[in-house]
Amino acid sequence: EQRAALAAWAGPGVTKDGQPVKLLANVADGESARKAVLQPVEGVGLFRTELCFLNRQEEPSVEEQADIYAEVLEPFGEGQYVVVRTLDAGSDKPIAFATHEGEENPALGVRGLRLAWGNPALMEHQLDGIKAAADRTGTETWVMAPMVATVQEASDFAEQVRARGLKAGVMVEIPSAALLAHRFLEVVDFLSIGTNDLTQYAMAADRMATDLAHLTDPWQPAVLHLIAITAEAGKQAGKSVGVCGEAAADPLLACCLVGMGVTSLSMAAAAVKGVGARLATVTSLQCREMAEIALAASDPAAGRAAVLAHLGS
Ligand code: PEP
Ligand code: MG
Repeated sequence: EQRAALAAWAGPGVTKDGQPVKLLANVADGESARKAVLQPVEGVGLFRTELCFLNRQEEPSVEEQADIYAEVLEPFGEGQYVVVRTLDAGSDKPIAFATHEGEENPALGVRGLRLAWGNPALMEHQLDGIKAAADRTGTETWVMAPMVATVQEASDFAEQVRARGLKAGVMVEIPSAALLAHRFLEVVDFLSIGTNDLTQYAMAADRMATDLAHLTDPWQPAVLHLIAITAEAGKQAGKSVGVCGEAAADPLLACCLVGMGVTSLSMAAAAVKGVGARLATVTSLQCREMAEIALAASDPAAGRAAVLAHLGS
């Protein structure tokens, strides 16, 4: 029966009782964007721009960046939008022309938005490239920064993005941003929760360490509480709060996230059908109940089991 539901579901994302949830794709380049648009998505929730530059020794020119970004924007049109993330270089994604060498603890070092402190031109050039690509393609383009810890950083970034006429947001990947989400929302247009890093930093557990997988599980109740705080702040502010980490690709957890108030879910394109089909089987009230159950659980396995039991499956 579930297989039939999966085959039948063709988008857009909506709960059984009609609450819309934007289902979006995570992409890395033009090729993955052209594949993603074939899925029932309403756009891209995370374009990881740093993945375009993993093999580059020198910073590409603004024109070259514009060409690369335009390839990702191009497939998306009417009623769709693309969230471009500025360079998240450093830590697990070293980029030759941006990353600081020799840090003892790169996950806690100068990575993501922090790289722009010592090299503001890097950010200016990238934003110019994104703006040029947005103008050329006409695709609705939102821009967000990774690894944002303070409201001041968010507000400075938003000013730079809005100066170019684009929507500005930040990722919630550091617990400080989740805890103060309501204040961040005073200075940005949207938030996007990166559960991979948010989990790593909330649990003090390296996301690459397989020995720590039980800690880096996004079902961890402490992580879910940070997500719930952020989603609630979004509801109060009437602004969009998405999830773009791995958590969004887990159909059961995705329903819990929607129950917390998350308005969009962005994931690997291949996961969209599974999430959309599951979401179509539950009401928004059930999503809220699932969220309460997951938040109250003692650990990830208990949370998942209790949510499944609640659904009677
Ligand atoms: C995340 O941290 O959850 C995220 C989406 O960003 P990345 O996986 O690229 O760090
Ligand atoms: Mg991240």
